[in-house]
Amino acid sequence: MSKPIVAIVGRPNVGKSTLFNMMAGERIAIVKDTPGVTRDRIYADVSWLKYNFTIMDTGGIEPDTHNQMLRDMREQAEMAIEMADVVMFIVDVKQGLVDADYKVADMLRKAQKKVVLVVNKVDNFDKMMPDVYEFYNLGIGDPHPVSSLAKLGIGDMLDEVTALFPQDVEQEEDERPRIALVGKPNAGKSSIINKLLGENRVIVSDVAGTTRDAIDTAVTWDDKEYVFIDTAGLRRKNKIKEEIERYSILRTVSAVERADVVILVIDAVEGVTEQDAKIAGIAHDRGRGIIIAVNKWDLIEKDNHTVRKFTEDIRDILSFMPYAEIIFISAMTGQRIPKIFDVLDMVIQNQQMRVQTGVLNDILAEAVAMQQPPSDKGRRLKIYYMTQVSIKPPTFVIFVNDKKLMHFSYTRYLENKIREAFGFKGTSLKFFIRERK
Ligand code: GDP
Ligand code: GDP
Repeated sequence: MSKPIVAIVGRPNVGKSTLFNMMAGERIAIVKDTPGVTRDRIYADVSWLKYNFTIMDTGGIEPDTHNQMLRDMREQAEMAIEMADVVMFIVDVKQGLVDADYKVADMLRKAQKKVVLVVNKVDNFDKMMPDVYEFYNLGIGDPHPVSSLAKLGIGDMLDEVTALFPQDVEQEEDERPRIALVGKPNAGKSSIINKLLGENRVIVSDVAGTTRDAIDTAVTWDDKEYVFIDTAGLRRKNKIKEEIERYSILRTVSAVERADVVILVIDAVEGVTEQDAKIAGIAHDRGRGIIIAVNKWDLIEKDNHTVRKFTEDIRDILSFMPYAEIIFISAMTGQRIPKIFDVLDMVIQNQQMRVQTGVLNDILAEAVAMQQPPSDKGRRLKIYYMTQVSIKPPTFVIFVNDKKLMHFSYTRYLENKIREAFGFKGTSLKFFIRERK
């Protein structure tokens, strides 16, 4: 299920990363007195009361001039408007209101975005409240005072943020599979989308709904419907922003968050890179279906071993997702582009496959007989039974005598046995271990 996305915007030094790290439940990882330090964590999963959501820090570029700062602010705000359900707009009580704050507020207001105005560095609520009221002048609602350092006002602020989340009771009824194309800039994502949407057999229609849906495209193929996520972003002519790695990662997170199946586009000429692995990791963590599309296949000189060699390299670097489907395509020549739909159908089916408990436990009994469960200090793991509790991704609960005895490698072994029996190609599987005394 897709989680709401909360984007953090604001000028440099207002305390975005301090607040981010605090919400992400981490110590402040990087002391940022050195300009230009890249912060690795730019998104994180947060739980607050009954809510789970993803926060994104859209800042992080160190501008050297005032003009550059204004441009960065504009880009941050644009990203946030496009991708987030709620924007946390951070301002600094110590610096007071500045020109750039008004500009961002204008953009957010025009986009009719849900905004929580957060006034940071209010380290003393009694003394500093009068300075907070100044921010009413931005005209985007009540200022919420916090101190990221002293951890004041955070709960009230999060209450405001979560109150603005979309009520997804009705929206979730859309059964159409949602597909995201992700990958490095220039891997060929836009070319693939254009080719796919241009196929004779494809009927393109608009997706009605929220603002964020407006960037998606619904298509029909063989009487089946699919929604391609963020096609507007992909097809946009000015892609300079995507060249900024930070933005390309945030866009990926946002698209993956909303997707059922992720098509990771790899540039065949460059091979699989670390950045590809990072992107793949995002999709894997979120349990999405995965198809790896090796694009620009037309540019590769091939012999009998080329496909095998490429496949091995991918399996090697993306070793955490051996289940991913791999397909070799060319957006330029159109080679195997229609086949993407067949692979999609297969992955979608596998994500929704349910295995009956009886059958599952036959496999389990056989697996346990072939390889004894681990033991520790004379105590052996007993596995009573397992059952599939949900789909997308298929999720299993294994009931055991003692959780501590269940070794990661044994779960992996059981996963392999299940895959041998049922395939589940293209989808990750999730396992929960429960004790039953
Ligand atoms: P960013 O550039 O917006 O991400 O800002 P940082 O999180 O790097 O913070 C900039 C500076 O403000 C750092 O020196 C922080 O320690 C400081 N800072 C952040 N939050 C607070 C706060 O609540 N109170 C005070 N007094 N300082 C803060
Ligand atoms: P994106 O940044 O991932 O959306 O990549 P684009 O779709 O903009 O493609 C980047 C460049 O690669 C463009 O110059 C495309 O024409 C080129 N390109 C994309 N797909 C292919 C392909 O299959 N074969 C070849 N030869 N070039 C391609």
